[in-house]
Amino acid sequence: MNENLFAILRSRFPTDSSTVFIETNCGQLMTYADMLSRSGQYANALIDLGLSPGDRVAVQVEKSLESLILYLGVVRAGLVYLPLNTAYTISELKYFLSDSEPGLVVCRPDREEGVRAIGGEARVKTLENGGKGGSLLALVDAASTSFEDAVCSGDDLAAILYTSGTTGQSKGAMLSHRNLSSNAAALAETWAFTARDRLMHALPIYHTHGLFTATNTILHAGASMIFLPKFDAEAVISLLPQATSMMGVPTFYSRLLQCETLTRECVEHIRLFISGSAPLSPEVHAEFERRTGHAILERYGMTETGMNTSNPYDGARRAGTVGFPLPGIELRIADPESGNELKQGEIGSIEVRGPNVFEGYWRKPQKTLEEFRDDGYFITGDLGVIDDKGYVNIVGRDKDLIISGGFNVYPAEIEAAIDSLAGVAESAVIGIPHPDFGEGVVAIVACKPGSLLVEDDIITPLSDVLARFKQPKLVFFVDALPRNAMGKVQKKEMRDQYADMFKGTKT
Ligand code: AMP
Repeated sequence: MNENLFAILRSRFPTDSSTVFIETNCGQLMTYADMLSRSGQYANALIDLGLSPGDRVAVQVEKSLESLILYLGVVRAGLVYLPLNTAYTISELKYFLSDSEPGLVVCRPDREEGVRAIGGEARVKTLENGGKGGSLLALVDAASTSFEDAVCSGDDLAAILYTSGTTGQSKGAMLSHRNLSSNAAALAETWAFTARDRLMHALPIYHTHGLFTATNTILHAGASMIFLPKFDAEAVISLLPQATSMMGVPTFYSRLLQCETLTRECVEHIRLFISGSAPLSPEVHAEFERRTGHAILERYGMTETGMNTSNPYDGARRAGTVGFPLPGIELRIADPESGNELKQGEIGSIEVRGPNVFEGYWRKPQKTLEEFRDDGYFITGDLGVIDDKGYVNIVGRDKDLIISGGFNVYPAEIEAAIDSLAGVAESAVIGIPHPDFGEGVVAIVACKPGSLLVEDDIITPLSDVLARFKQPKLVFFVDALPRNAMGKVQKKEMRDQYADMFKGTKT
């Protein structure tokens, strides 16, 4: 059997190929039949360029219908898709291109010269913003639409996605056809996606969330998407009446809540709102439910594993938790040093094993070895605990753990306590070098519009609810927390910014 991801998804496509696959907000419409022939043209054009199975195709272009079909064409041809964040500068690209040694780089025309200068042996082709032109498109337009999917084994690589590298150098996570197809099947089943679904897709497609979690799941269900080039709260709200479901990062939901146009009527046809990539605050969860009647379903995953856990589709969606392991995926909470499984209720390292777990880091065998236990479990780098009902709770990244005066402080607990205070919009808790305690707890707080808080408004109420060693020693106020495009709070950036705050503190 051909285990090529596309061949597996294709076996699930609607029998009526005139079924819509994608509709954009600017009136473009693509049926399953159109997608099949267009991705065939991409696959033919790539093979005609001399690429062969296993070659990497690095892509740094804006989100568009064409750039999504390029992904499918790469997979069909048995090549390795390597998307790059559109925000990377030419000097940042240099590392990715020299590390991955792609056979082809696809970039915007205005980047062509810069990419040629750093791209080594790679060929360079272009795709204009919006997929409206470029040298790759010219080849694709001229190529044949019929293409026989390359025969792949489940272990063959389908993609390499570089991790966001917030704590060190970015690493290429190697994802196989099996990793991606197994996760699409598990998600379509868990979230009950069917051909009747129409997903609101406003996520970027250079990241696992928008590329795999959203697109592959929809293809697996033979369903359709409303495709927006980027998230725009008002545009999303105006199109929600035509959707049945939405996947987003937590910031999408807090931005939607800021719009008065978000009403129960506009979400009448929606059966499911899903959130992930960063923690969804219980306050946003509660407020969204109050406004719309929908309990957002929160799930947990990462570049290296795809999705690992999800709150239940039927059953209680517990705010502040990420639910249960997906079908076929094992998850344990282990002692970070020994890897021995801990008792329920104890905080430890979240480790996962299953067909979703990646093949290792590209050309980093030592790093790969370090991140796996002997029994095959992958050490996610997240810390968590399983509650009395079996729901997984994430307490933070291992590297964000604060050790103050010898005690472990889990930022998520302090952030939840701060977020529940009146007037607080959001908060981040970090550890800063402290001459006496090793690290001192520091809170960075953004207030809700119209409220003006001072340090005591945060510290005083916390003194009743948190042990002394967990209480912030300093509070800084900001307009908004620094986040990346996936809504992840940039803690390293804040640790650097506030690094000297305890310097000179008397012990
Ligand atoms: P990425 O590889 O960019 O997808 O980032 C993965 C990381 O995002 C995970 O290891 C977690 O630290 C974090 N993450 C993803 N989903 C959630 C969630 N629902 N709650 C808290 N953290 C999350």
